[in-house]
Amino acid sequence: MAMLEIKNLQVYYGMIHAIKDVSFEVNEGEVIALIGANGAGKTTILHTVTGLIAAKGGEVLYEGVDLQKIAPHKIVSQGIAHVPEGRHVFSQLTVYENLLMGAYTRKDKSEVEESLENVYKRFPRLKERQRQYAGTLSGGEQQMLAMGRALMSKPKIVLMDEPSMGLSPILVEEIFDIIQSISKSGTTVLLVEQNAKKALGIADRAYVLETGKIVLSGDAKKLMDDESVKKAYLGE
Ligand code: ATP
Repeated sequence: MAMLEIKNLQVYYGMIHAIKDVSFEVNEGEVIALIGANGAGKTTILHTVTGLIAAKGGEVLYEGVDLQKIAPHKIVSQGIAHVPEGRHVFSQLTVYENLLMGAYTRKDKSEVEESLENVYKRFPRLKERQRQYAGTLSGGEQQMLAMGRALMSKPKIVLMDEPSMGLSPILVEEIFDIIQSISKSGTTVLLVEQNAKKALGIADRAYVLETGKIVLSGDAKKLMDDESVKKAYLGE
């Protein structure tokens, strides 16, 4: 059984049919990339998984349970963490406080300290800046904080929305290395990206979304060699 299975998903914004019969799956341990141009519907799909948007049809099965039947605020405690597009860190709180917010739903409070140490190990820059207000961090540091905050919930799967957005090439490299190391340490990753080259470079499999529909899918390395993908998404 797949860890996450999206079946025949239909999402509308009023009259706009944003997601048209989308089906895909994420298996435990995989890095799955969802790539597509602006407005293809990538963020909408993630928001349907986290319960921020209600689907008109279809199913969102997580470990066999339909997430649409679970209250959105309970979804994090099921083991699903979301790193939103644009980071959305709490600007008025310090780095340390932001990280603790990520552990808000955890019952094993005694182990939160250990997770904090793990996040600081993964992101030494956050440790150096633990007392700094999140609003004063650079874009790259805010992305690290948003990722660290998600890891503080000890998720089984992390949904990442455009982690490379607005970052310099060096930072993009760094962020993708970190995503890879998060995956290596056993967390499943569903990655939404416009940077198809980087996303396909670290993903196991990928789905290509165009105006709300999946038009291509398969092994990430094979998609990188696909002529239509090269032309439309890799600028070759
Ligand atoms: P981007 O990479 O630009 O974030 P995306 O692939 O994540 O794009 P979505 O944000 O999911 O795309 O948007 C999919 C479609 O739904 C777009 O046409 C968008 O304009 C539309 N849409 C998204 N949110 C709303 C909303 N709240 N009301 C109406 N239409 C919306």
